Amino acid sequence: MAQKMLQFVRTEKRMPDKREAAARRHDFDEIYGEFDQSGAEEQSSRCSQCGVPFCQVHCPLHNNIPDWLKLTAEGRLEEAYEMSSATSNLPEICGRICPQDRLCEGNCTIEQSTHGTVTIGSIEKYINDTAWDRGWVKPRIPARERAQSVGIIGGGPGGMAAAEQLRAKGYEVHVYDRYDRIGGLMMYGIPGFKLEKYVVDRRVKLLADQGVIFHTNFEVGRDATLADLRAKHDAVLIATGVYKARDLDAPGSELGNIIPALKYLTISNRQGLGDTVPDYDSGALNASGKNVVVIGGGDTAMDCVRTAIRQGAKSVKCLYRRNRANMPGSQREVHNAEEEGVEFVWQSAPEAFEGKDGVVTGVRAHRIHLGVADASGRQTPQVIDGSGYVLEADLVIKALGFDPEDLPALFGEAGLKVSRWGTVTVNFRTMMSSLDGVFAAGDIVRGASLVVWAIRDGRDVAEHMHSYLLQKAEAGTTAAAVAAE
Ligand SMILES: Cc1cc2nc3c(=O)[nH]c(=O)nc-3n(C[C@H](O)[C@H](O)[C@H](O)COP(=O)(O)OP(=O)(O)OC[C@H]3O[C@@H](n4cnc5c(N)ncnc54)[C@H](O)[C@@H]3O)c2cc1C
Ligand code: SF4
Repeated sequence: MAQKMLQFVRTEKRMPDKREAAARRHDFDEIYGEFDQSGAEEQSSRCSQCGVPFCQVHCPLHNNIPDWLKLTAEGRLEEAYEMSSATSNLPEICGRICPQDRLCEGNCTIEQSTHGTVTIGSIEKYINDTAWDRGWVKPRIPARERAQSVGIIGGGPGGMAAAEQLRAKGYEVHVYDRYDRIGGLMMYGIPGFKLEKYVVDRRVKLLADQGVIFHTNFEVGRDATLADLRAKHDAVLIATGVYKARDLDAPGSELGNIIPALKYLTISNRQGLGDTVPDYDSGALNASGKNVVVIGGGDTAMDCVRTAIRQGAKSVKCLYRRNRANMPGSQREVHNAEEEGVEFVWQSAPEAFEGKDGVVTGVRAHRIHLGVADASGRQTPQVIDGSGYVLEADLVIKALGFDPEDLPALFGEAGLKVSRWGTVTVNFRTMMSSLDGVFAAGDIVRGASLVVWAIRDGRDVAEHMHSYLLQKAEAGTTAAAVAAE
């Protein structure tokens, strides 16, 4: 039944049902269920239809949230889907994994007035999952084909969004990825309990049905140089993400069973996808029966602790040098981790690793006092003298963040300009790098960020590439024309 809007005064905020921690500790299925139609209509009707919708302003895609909430409340779901998918290439994925508390929902007006936010992410997920179920999601086949082609290096959310946009305009689109599956960190980084893999797979299939050509197990730098791709395509997009794990230079770091987070998560995701993973099967990179210590306080650390719980670890501790209020990870994920049995050791930092027979047995840590705030406004961690202690550990996972790889060296292209952090430098008006016709988007430009920002960048860069390609076509300098001369 169609619902009137502004119901937040009568109707409580409600999330879809969350599975009990005791049940979800044992599998990698998503932990939140789906609204049914009446639940989605009821929750959508809480929206206050603000004149200036702060939710929309703070969504990186500027999704037309109040409009699709109203359509959902009125039971006009197919129109809600059309509107939601008009501004996002992966709406059901953002609905699942955006840190909504820092984006749309955190800025919802009724949240600010203490009524509790509209559950925007869950409704976005409902609208778009329903669209998939009812067959409304169709490949965007171009109205006409163009003679030019683009090469996209990287099949993560940034590369996927750009591929869909450019293909819809009629370009021949080739995506090159060094992994054997498309999806980037959505496939091999983010665990299934946040994002089940079929959700990514059906999007990849949609792009293939649209005519996007995928080249998997193809590493630029190994199987081709950047110059090769520039010669083959009229424009190239670098959307390679950031993969160099930040390390911890502490005594004992060379001991066995101290591993980087992404290696651990990739192996777990591969195992979940049904691949044969010897390091998992042998127990070497499997937390089962182990005392696990994860170092770090971001979302990657949260994914590691919760994966270890599901693998049947004996104990799982998260060591973080600041306190709960200052951690970068989403508070919702911290809460979920605690429910599942993770122990947080706040204001503690590792000093060294202890070991026996070449394998780690413990993490020597010291306690931290949070001093005065620095220029960024965050309190500075200070070691408390004489506060050292040891945490028992059979497996230590380092989740300290990521930096870009050395792309100019990897791509054999010294002319590719990068910042002092190694991110690709682009002209922010055109998103083009220092090389003509080579664009960049996503984490490789921003540094480690979010899926929703990679999508935004992928959409923006597709527009800039389109303008560039139109000019090139007018000038008669397409790759095909040059090759024919
Ligand atoms: C563990 C973890 C959990 C996360 N959780 C969340 C979350 O809950 N919500 C959220 O919004 N964000 C999350 N993020 C961040 C998010 O995944 C990234 O910001 C996003 O995936 C970046 O997209 P991208 O397209 O720029 O790069 P990526 O997703 O990293 O994709 C880059 C692709 O490029 C390929 N590639 C790299 N180099 C080459 C090469 N030389 N040749 C060919 N291919 C290459 C890679 O194989 C990869 O497929 C998480 C990140 C991690 C690590
Ligand atoms: S894309 Fe993310 S920030 Fe935007 S409406 Fe959806 S959940 Fe909110």
